[in-house]
Amino acid sequence: MQTRDEYLQKLLETKKPVCPHCGKEMDIWEVPPITFSDGLGWGEPFLFVCFNETCPPFVNGWDDIEENYGHRASFRCINYPFTENFELMPVFGKTGGEAQIITEETINEQEKIKERIKTGFSILADCYVNKDFIKIVSMSQDNSEPVRVRLKAIEMLGDCADITEVIEPLRNIKPPNVKVSEAIEIAVGKIHERCFTRECPFCAEIIKKRAKVCKHCSKELN
Ligand SMILES: [Zn+2]
Ligand SMILES: [Zn+2]
Repeated sequence: MQTRDEYLQKLLETKKPVCPHCGKEMDIWEVPPITFSDGLGWGEPFLFVCFNETCPPFVNGWDDIEENYGHRASFRCINYPFTENFELMPVFGKTGGEAQIITEETINEQEKIKERIKTGFSILADCYVNKDFIKIVSMSQDNSEPVRVRLKAIEMLGDCADITEVIEPLRNIKPPNVKVSEAIEIAVGKIHERCFTRECPFCAEIIKKRAKVCKHCSKELN
C-alpha cells in the first residue's frame, strides 16, 4: 500500500492529461472527504479536473441541468489518474472545487512550512533546556512563526515558566485562532499555580493568590 503522500508525489511527476472536450491541460484536485459520505465516492484521493471556464460541458451544463433538473449546476470533466477514463462530474458553483487545486507551488509551500516547524521546535527544545524564557516568549509572539511553533512555545511556558513576568506578554498576544487563545489561558493558569499568584479581577495586575486587598488598586478581594 502506498501512502497518500507517495500517491500524490507520483501524480505530480506524471504528465497532466488534456481535457478531451476543450484540449486544455487538467489540474490535480484533492477530492474533499464529504463527497465520499455523499455516496458519490470517486474512490481516489485525487482526480484530474478540467477547470477551464470555457470548457463546453461546463458552459452548456448550466442550462441543461436547469432545464432538466431545475437546479443550478454544471459539469466539469474529470480524469481518473493513471487511466484513460474521463467522466463528467457535477459541480454546483463556478468556483466549486477550485480552491483545492494542488500545484507544485502549494506543495513547496507546505514543505517550507514543515521545515520551519522542525527548526522552530528544535530552537524551542534548546530554550527549554536553558530555561531561556525570553526567547520562548518572543517566539510565542512572532507572527512570522508557523502557528504550531507558537502553540508549542505557549505550552512550554505553561509547563516550565516560573516567573510571572511572562504572563503580560502572553496576555498581549493577538491569538490567530481559538486554539491559541485557549492555550494562552491554560498556560497562564499553570504559571499562576506555580507562582502562587493570580490576576486582580479589577485591575488585572498580578497579585499574590492569598492577597485580601489588591496592592495596585486597593480593591478588596474575596
Ligand atoms: Zn475541458
Ligand atoms: Zn487590582
